[in-house]
Amino acid sequence: MGALEELERYAVKHASEAVRLDRQGARGLALTEYQKAVEVLLKLCSLYPNSPQHEIYMKRVDAYRQRIKELKGGDGRPALEREPAAPTPSPLQLAEKPQIRWEDIADLETAKKAIIESVVYPTKRPDLFPLGWPRGILLYGPPGCGKTLLAAATASEIDANFYCVDASTIMSKWLGESEKNVARLFGEARKAAQNGKPSIIFIDELDSLMAARVEEVGGEARARNQFLKEMDGILDKNRKTYVYVFGATNKPWALDEPFIRRFQKRIYVPLPDLEARKQLIKIYSKELNFAPDVDLERLAILTEGYAGSDIRDLLQTAHTKVVREFFQQGGAENPQAKPRPITMQDLMEALAERKPSVSKSMLQAYRKWTAEYGAL
Ligand code: ATP
Repeated sequence: MGALEELERYAVKHASEAVRLDRQGARGLALTEYQKAVEVLLKLCSLYPNSPQHEIYMKRVDAYRQRIKELKGGDGRPALEREPAAPTPSPLQLAEKPQIRWEDIADLETAKKAIIESVVYPTKRPDLFPLGWPRGILLYGPPGCGKTLLAAATASEIDANFYCVDASTIMSKWLGESEKNVARLFGEARKAAQNGKPSIIFIDELDSLMAARVEEVGGEARARNQFLKEMDGILDKNRKTYVYVFGATNKPWALDEPFIRRFQKRIYVPLPDLEARKQLIKIYSKELNFAPDVDLERLAILTEGYAGSDIRDLLQTAHTKVVREFFQQGGAENPQAKPRPITMQDLMEALAERKPSVSKSMLQAYRKWTAEYGAL
């Protein structure tokens, strides 16, 4: 199963679970599941921006977000009446490979360079690297800053099979025993790599593999040990097949030494600086229509501390507001009519709704970890 189907499966699982819990009135749990579904759907959208399903995914995202807002606000509505059914995957004729190129990723030049030199060059010309090269790449840093995109762009560049999984899903009970999930994942990637095409396994929330589980005694250790074993398997220099593991985490300090050691490259993926935020705003406003009062430079300054995903969401929130208004006022009835342009006021409102989620002390912790373990 490729990354796309895998992700769709997760999205459907989380969404159905959310709806089920919501119907039962288990608000807290439903909320978490909705959030998971939204995350996976957004990931799908960013990995496959040209997918015909894109619009359906985004509609679902809007519906779930709306419901999350309601649940958070405790609007007293008992259970979900409207039917935000899980996205129904239609038959897929999509290319497996994510459609992300390096130039779609704002900034992160240091990370890109490190990956290109340590993975892309050796994969293209193995004869020039007789001493071997890294197979484990750890990407760490605050959420929403492009870790997944970097792994996806690498897969595009070296034309790899791409497996995108979430470690917390591997560990979750409804998917069965976690160490078997780990073994299955690596097994599939190895098999796919046998026909000459490399495989990239992207494991998000890698630290979850370390997480202790109360209800499954020994389960966490088994998954963790299986993972270490699999990593040793792919590190074998004599292998002619290439399987890479990109691990991503927001909590690198939760990883223990044996884990860290298996990732020879450890790359920090930081929050975007001013220049990067300008690029992000440019990337995500390509299709948007702004009023003349909009000052995007100022927006870049005001978004200090925001992650790439925050900036994308911010612009999307402002856009959605304008479109919603347009529908509510009946403007959409006329196929020639267009919504009004987005104003600075819309952007400021969206900004006020969303505060940066990464604290100064967290950034300090990343710096400290980088000084000790970073390896470019
Ligand atoms: P998490 O730790 O939450 O999984 P992540 O670091 O893997 O986050 P991504 O999934 O790569 O983050 O980024 C989330 C979304 O934010 C992307 O799909 C993209 O839309 C946007 N984004 C983040 N950083 C960048 C960037 N540098 N360039 C372009 N888009 C970005």
